[in-house]
Amino acid sequence: MSHFKRTGPPLGQSSIRLHEVMKRFAPLFLLILTAAALLYTRQMSAADTDFLIYFENSTLALKSQTVDRVIYLPLQEIVRHMGLAFTDATGLMTFTIQGQNSRLVLTPGSGFISFNDQPVLLQNPIRRDGGQWLVPLDFLSQGLSRVAALEFRYRAGSRRVFAGKVTTTELAMNAQSLGVLTRLTLRAGAAIEVDLQKETAQHRAIVTLKGKAIDPARERLDYKDALVQSVAFDDSDGSPRLVVAIADDVRDIRVSSSEGNRVYFVDFIRELGEAAPAAGPTAVAPAARPANIANAAGGIRVIAIDAGHGGIESGATNSGTLEKDLTLALARRLRTALQSRLSATVVLTRESDVALTNEARAAVANNNQANLFISLHTGYSLEKTASGSSIYVMKGDFTGGVGEPEGGRLFFPWYMAYRISAPASQAMAQQLQQNLKQALPGWKFPIRHAPIGVLASATMPSVAIEIGNFNNDASVKTLADTEFQTKLASAIAAGIEQFAVAHAGGRK
Ligand SMILES: [Zn+2]
Repeated sequence: MSHFKRTGPPLGQSSIRLHEVMKRFAPLFLLILTAAALLYTRQMSAADTDFLIYFENSTLALKSQTVDRVIYLPLQEIVRHMGLAFTDATGLMTFTIQGQNSRLVLTPGSGFISFNDQPVLLQNPIRRDGGQWLVPLDFLSQGLSRVAALEFRYRAGSRRVFAGKVTTTELAMNAQSLGVLTRLTLRAGAAIEVDLQKETAQHRAIVTLKGKAIDPARERLDYKDALVQSVAFDDSDGSPRLVVAIADDVRDIRVSSSEGNRVYFVDFIRELGEAAPAAGPTAVAPAARPANIANAAGGIRVIAIDAGHGGIESGATNSGTLEKDLTLALARRLRTALQSRLSATVVLTRESDVALTNEARAAVANNNQANLFISLHTGYSLEKTASGSSIYVMKGDFTGGVGEPEGGRLFFPWYMAYRISAPASQAMAQQLQQNLKQALPGWKFPIRHAPIGVLASATMPSVAIEIGNFNNDASVKTLADTEFQTKLASAIAAGIEQFAVAHAGGRK
């Protein structure tokens, strides 16, 4: 566009005819130039940057380098962007960053950096490559944060860092086949705007996300079916979007939102087959939305139940009675109770005596797009006479190491999927407490908040229930009693039903 403007004026009077031609085709030239510029920018960004640092008022896109499986970032670009004073002393082979009253000195090939003449050890060495200084990610939290007096937050495995007071919008996504359509559900921590662009020729749809520093729980969705081939988050050029590869069968794509634009459903609707009555794309909609789909936004469609422990991990034991067996028996009874009360799908994290990681348990709930997640355990108290029972909700300010990949101890894992549903989890715990107390007179079910691993990465309202005291023989006998188990399962199912009704009612 600027190119055309610059060549415009000097044409002068001697080239009236050319000027006329230019005028006539100006819109076309503009279009071509704009398209070329856009294409160029797109290619540039895709090829040149793959890592972002979100600052309060700006975003810095960088090209990272991976050396020995460690991500390195170009230091000069970062300090320049931050406006920090620095000296690159080539002769001395040092790089010095000057803070307000502090100084950070780096030397290549060493994991030691010097902050105000005090050594700080990084997990990986500083590198210098062809005049470029490369820093491992933990340099940001261990070094740069000190000299710049700025906090850096990073979640292992992601391609972005958030600096200082940047407020982020957490994004969880899930896909599920509903027969005639595949539904991609986006759940954001705050209201976002979504814009859909169909790129039919490229067999893809671009879902642009507009919101504050959007941070996805996962970079790509591990999902593939006949309609949706892949879903990947991409913000490499600073504008966050989802790239969805779609099959030819996708006739229509519809976006709807709920919960004040915090939740979006992107429906990829299948083309009607030859056998189906002839109908235009608009006629697909009613068929695509059977009753259970229409209810999905407010109702409880899928419930995941986790039977605690399993396999070599027995849990608590008391003279031959194992927690893992009781939790599985209880999970099965709860499934039966739920199926008779609610027309919901109930999935168990384990159906047999197998060991599962906490991640795998949460994944069963997440991948099945469960609306509720309940982990069942038995209680244990050192005091034999204590009741032992509790209902656990994930602790709100948890900053422990749950779900982090090995070697991901850079910074602290500040994002946890459970946060999105924290209020609903609390509400469900209160409802269950009420129903359990009612069904089991004399029993206490205090609500506790703790960093429960299995709840940390669940993206839906989740609680863990611990029942009884395994240190008390009578309590164990009660837990093993099938009549008691049925009563317990029925009480939990009733609580879930009431929660579902209140939950759905509150949204409409
Ligand atoms: Zn347990």
